[in-house]
Amino acid sequence: MSIRIPHSFTMPTFKVSVTKDYLVFASAHFITFAGHRCEPLHGHNYRVAVTLEGALDEESWYVVDFSELKRIMRRLCDEIDHKMLLPLRNPKLDVRERDGSVMVAYEGKPKYVFPTEDCALLDIPNTTVEMLAQYLAGRLRDALRELGVTSLVALELEVEENFGQSATYRESPVADNPNPAPGRRN
Ligand SMILES: [Zn+2]
Repeated sequence: MSIRIPHSFTMPTFKVSVTKDYLVFASAHFITFAGHRCEPLHGHNYRVAVTLEGALDEESWYVVDFSELKRIMRRLCDEIDHKMLLPLRNPKLDVRERDGSVMVAYEGKPKYVFPTEDCALLDIPNTTVEMLAQYLAGRLRDALRELGVTSLVALELEVEENFGQSATYRESPVADNPNPAPGRRN
């Protein structure tokens, strides 16, 4: 009797990374804490690192084309660079866009008004580095799938807001039929 070994156990995999020095965005945010505390508005020079693990593309002998990976990540960082990052799923914040302005209320009290073009409205519950990392990972996963990259077994995305202060989101296995990325949910 022979034991059938799943294909994934026999397939060698490689890790490839794009590092934080290349991928940056400078943005404003504030987070809400448990209870009735809300940070004052401030900014960070965020840096992003991506690690992908997967099998080789059989024709090209790489996991993913670095130029494509960098292009995707640069686009995702540019979308939120020099923006006010605002979460749309925070139960303590009411974020509304009207007539070219975004109005933000905290626990029912008006707090900020920003020009719409200066805001990135993100379908996440709080603009922590954890949620930013998960958001960007979801967008990257979708973009890679559109490119036809389907051989990944793990995807890691790190967002650093200060030197030595970061969060890493890891997804393994990479979902075949994932929910849409958080930022794209209706
Ligand atoms: Zn901060």
